Amino acid sequence: MQQNSLWQAVLGEIELSVSHGNFVTWFKNTQLLQLTDETLVIGVVNVFMKQQLQVKYADLLLQTLQKNGVNPKTIEYKIVASQKSKPETEESLLVAAPAGGATRSATTSPAPTQTAPTRHGNSLSHSYRPGINERYTFDNFIVGASNELAFAACQAIAANPGTKYNPLFLYGGVGIGKTHLIQAAGNAFLANNPGAKVLYISTEQFVQEFVDALRFRKTAEFASYYRTADMLIVDDVQFIAGKDKMEEEFFHTFNALHQGNKQIIISSDRQPKDIPTIQDRLRSRFAWGMTIDMQIPDFETRVAILQTKASDHGVHLPMDVADHLASNVATNIRELEGALNQLLAFCEMRGLEPNLSIATSLLGVAKTRPKHLSAKQIIERTARHFQIPLEDILGPKRDKDIVVPRQVAMYMLRSELHLSFPKIARELGRKDHTTAIHSVEKIEKESQLDASLRTAISEIKERLYA
Ligand code: ADP
Ligand code: MG
Repeated sequence: MQQNSLWQAVLGEIELSVSHGNFVTWFKNTQLLQLTDETLVIGVVNVFMKQQLQVKYADLLLQTLQKNGVNPKTIEYKIVASQKSKPETEESLLVAAPAGGATRSATTSPAPTQTAPTRHGNSLSHSYRPGINERYTFDNFIVGASNELAFAACQAIAANPGTKYNPLFLYGGVGIGKTHLIQAAGNAFLANNPGAKVLYISTEQFVQEFVDALRFRKTAEFASYYRTADMLIVDDVQFIAGKDKMEEEFFHTFNALHQGNKQIIISSDRQPKDIPTIQDRLRSRFAWGMTIDMQIPDFETRVAILQTKASDHGVHLPMDVADHLASNVATNIRELEGALNQLLAFCEMRGLEPNLSIATSLLGVAKTRPKHLSAKQIIERTARHFQIPLEDILGPKRDKDIVVPRQVAMYMLRSELHLSFPKIARELGRKDHTTAIHSVEKIEKESQLDASLRTAISEIKERLYA
């Protein structure tokens, strides 16, 4: 079989066994670069794609290859430039500006030539803002177990609005990607239907506009503006609760759109039944379509998000730094991004490469770390993780399966407690502090290359801070 058609066959099968989001994120842009009896070389777009394929999809890849009659001894990955920029997406990303008629273009689109403004709907004489931000796309949304379903539903809706999941109700805590995803749905829908009237509103803004409309006696205009949308995206709907007139207005808007098979997407920080004081008739409508719970992305996904965002800035983020940020900022992607931006800005101003000690000091150890963690706990936890007796890690033995855990323990004492090297040496029963320096450096370096070592470190940390 030709290389190319072999790879198409393999991808075709994989597409059937993983979610669409994962397929697009991890497989779609791969290519088969080389195939010999010994080795298969897969071209990937970036380092976390390589990592994800190696860590998560190694078995699936090998099995699928074997099914197609290929059984390489090793699979290698090579990072090659992305080959996916299709001109049509550039064009379709052109989104009309609200009222002025000027055209904004996506940042990814170099000097667009089609500048004919695409207008939203027909009436532009109002002052309401469509509010869609083209920065939020499916392409730059990283998919993991926590958001896979939401991602798939949003994609389905963008392709087939107003049919299956209407309304789509996404809920989950702050900063976990709800706004990103529902706006991405709007952007994708617009890309397929350039003339469509897609309205995104934060509920606070919706309420404010409604109050203004009441004041200036423009409620009819307000109503007809929203009721003629092709897609209405309402963000943080919990803020509507208890505002009776607004709920009433929204109820009618909802009905008009729903009856016209226009897609409605709603986000909230909690599920419909937990929004207090909202009218029951609205609550029950929210549950008509599909309700999906979004969680904070897991550790691996957080690392992938960091890697993407750093590479968007043209910066290479060392693995230990990404791991450190991802394990310390574990509740909220917005905060995670904030921590990354702070680190990148700090390094850029000083002409430094991001490294673990800068990341640790910027994150403010005290903020996230319980104070009571002791050197002893770290050493014990490390020994237990590697299943060796405590007296061995502290003792004189020099076997490899004792030395590596000991070095990891030293590394952890440095990264978690910032102990001095002489103190680290003493904690592990060593006389010479250069051993500690050497060990910490060695683990720092090796954890960049060795995924299983990184996993060990983050598992130990997770236990320590659990
Ligand atoms: P929410 O609306 O749930 O409070 P946002 O959608 O505003 O959260 O997300 C906060 C930030 O985190 C945004 O900048 C968003 O782009 C980013 N983000 C969240 N989840 C992801 C993800 N899975 N991949 C890429 N970026 C993400
Ligand atoms: Mg939001």
